[in-house]
Amino acid sequence: MDRFDVIIIGTGAGGGTLAHALAPTGKRILLLERGDFIRREKANWDPRQVNVEGRYQTKEVWHDREGKSLHPHTNYAVGGNTKFYGAALFRFRKEDFGELRHHGGVSPAWPITYEELEPYYLKAEHLYQVHGTRGEDPTEPHASGPYRHPAVSHEPRIQALSEDLASQGLKPFHVPLGVQLNERDPRASSCIRCETCDGFPCLVRAKSDAEVLCVEPALRHPNVTLLTGAYVERLETSASGREVTTVVVKREGRAEQYAADLVVVSAGAINSAALLLRSANDRHPGGLANGSDVVGRHYMGHINSVLMALSKCPNPTVFQKTLAVNDFYFGSDQFPYPMGHISFVGKLDAATLSAGAPAIAPGWTLELMARHSLDFWLTSEDLPDPENRVSLDAEGNIVLSYRPNNQEGHRQLIKTLEAFLQAQGSCPVHGKSCHQGLFSRNLFLGQRIPLAGVAHQNGTIRFGRDPRTSALDVNCRAHEVENLYVVDGSFFPSSAAVNPALTIIANALRVGDHLKARLG
Ligand SMILES: Cc1cc2nc3c(=O)[nH]c(=O)nc-3n(C[C@H](O)[C@H](O)[C@H](O)COP(=O)(O)OP(=O)(O)OC[C@H]3O[C@@H](n4cnc5c(N)ncnc54)[C@H](O)[C@@H]3O)c2cc1C
Ligand code: SF4
Repeated sequence: MDRFDVIIIGTGAGGGTLAHALAPTGKRILLLERGDFIRREKANWDPRQVNVEGRYQTKEVWHDREGKSLHPHTNYAVGGNTKFYGAALFRFRKEDFGELRHHGGVSPAWPITYEELEPYYLKAEHLYQVHGTRGEDPTEPHASGPYRHPAVSHEPRIQALSEDLASQGLKPFHVPLGVQLNERDPRASSCIRCETCDGFPCLVRAKSDAEVLCVEPALRHPNVTLLTGAYVERLETSASGREVTTVVVKREGRAEQYAADLVVVSAGAINSAALLLRSANDRHPGGLANGSDVVGRHYMGHINSVLMALSKCPNPTVFQKTLAVNDFYFGSDQFPYPMGHISFVGKLDAATLSAGAPAIAPGWTLELMARHSLDFWLTSEDLPDPENRVSLDAEGNIVLSYRPNNQEGHRQLIKTLEAFLQAQGSCPVHGKSCHQGLFSRNLFLGQRIPLAGVAHQNGTIRFGRDPRTSALDVNCRAHEVENLYVVDGSFFPSSAAVNPALTIIANALRVGDHLKARLG
């Protein structure tokens, strides 16, 4: 059996970033990734193939709590879901690390403070080349340094909306984005500012994803090895159950075994929980490191909506995801509870709309809708409920049980956005009748967003100080297994209401420092 110093399972935001952090130590590191490299091909940017036919999505079938089939919108590839993400790289708010009272209950405190993660947020922003402007976002927490790259500019339609919202007293701001765009010298820019970014792999490798910025640089170190198509089936422990001794892998139809002093699981919040549950043994009858019975529980994925605001005026924006509004993140005078975050998805096109467009007024064809819509993405926090969980059926397949909660804040956020759009200044062509309304669009091929849309999955192997209520300690080491760590989105005790990837990346860098010290 081949032996390494460290095995990392999964190469996404968590695992890929950790590999980059540990590569210079010279320690022997093995990356096990069930997916392959995403092939560079024209289909990378084809909305029909990517959004309608799901060319790069897993074909795996999971089940929901009623036993109905679920086709998860997730990707197995080198770089994980960062190959497809919209690269909006937000810090959680300082308050998200404390206890927060919501309309639907309490969002629990984290075992570390914002200040403890802050230096790693800065490193994460630099590593992922985040483009942004400090000081615009009214809820932004303290940062110890500037962004290294200027914010991505708004195109004219988005700039007009920004000015309109500002004139109504809001503080719209530029989304911090991980795209390698150089607007001062476009000929030298890797990013060409295209319309197929959010949800698509980047054909010209200009998106700040974990493959391009972390895994590939890590592989230039001779001590780092990557195996693709390497599905980790289970982890086996010593007789005492205190350490992982064997990582059992299925690759090209064959069973293989690997061993390491340290084993880091980073397979995404759903697959990591499933892996620990599959690894139950005599010492860990409820699943590996699961004496607390929290593994798989408290699944969160945000309450998300895609809302199309239709105007008579066209929206010719190419790269739309540059504007966000956080004024209602913690609530408003009318609704004194957190509501969430407003930003944009990539510009919707007719092909993508054909897979879930709302039926609206006659005459609005898909093409017309696509040309005239502003496509908002609204995120609110869902709360950790132990009954919302990942479990396994009798054949070992994933079952995802989820009942949405804390939805009132999201409803209020939609109402608030609608009110601000209604109150927009009149347009020079259509006057006050330019805005036609706000329509909900189901992004996920006719399925409800919260379940198949597992893009923001987190919370299933929570970290904490008390081994009775958490599976991981503050360093993301399993309380019960001395050489087992988890660094993907599983560790979150609460989900906050901004996108998760930067927090996963920052935490992987934090755990990386701990592991470097441990490895000596
Ligand atoms: C369309 C889309 C848009 C998004 N936009 C944003 C955004 O704008 N901003 C943001 O912050 N977040 C965004 N996200 C979410 C973001 O991509 C995830 O939060 C992040 O990638 C999660 O990191 P992770 O390390 O937890 O898991 P992943 O990145 O999913 O990585 C897990 C890896 O583990 C591998 N794996 C799984 N099981 C096994 C196994 N048994 N054996 C071996 N390998 C395994 C997978 O193949 C994968 O490579 C988006 C996601 C999607 C899908
Ligand atoms: S070129 Fe730029 S905008 Fe287009 S997919 Fe790549 S990173 Fe995104």
